[in-house]
Amino acid sequence: MHELAVTESLLQVVLRHANEGGAGKVVSVSVRIGGLSDLVNEWVQRYFDHLSRGTIAEGAVIRIERIPTTFRCDQCGHVFPADPRTREEIRCPLCSSAEMTLATGRECFVQQIEVVNGFGA
Ligand SMILES: [Zn+2]
Repeated sequence: MHELAVTESLLQVVLRHANEGGAGKVVSVSVRIGGLSDLVNEWVQRYFDHLSRGTIAEGAVIRIERIPTTFRCDQCGHVFPADPRTREEIRCPLCSSAEMTLATGRECFVQQIEVVNGFGA
């Protein structure tokens, strides 16, 4: 995924929620991103700073939390953490099956938005 496109959609979610809640200003945004995502935290913040200029989200701090990559075994249903980027063969630790489905790792969503209400504050 490309940081700019992702950050644009994040900003839209943030602004929609902030407007619905009658927020005066967005202070920080907590974002959860899957461990398989190659998004660079620093670039998300930079793009956000750029895109949010002139909006109530201007100056907000982006807090990025990584979600560990996990797989669900197709044979026994066991969910376990594994990193496919190590290029080692991944097998279920319970039944040794090599048939599995990605359970988490590609997420990207806004977890929490911290705002201050009204004018000035
Ligand atoms: Zn298994």
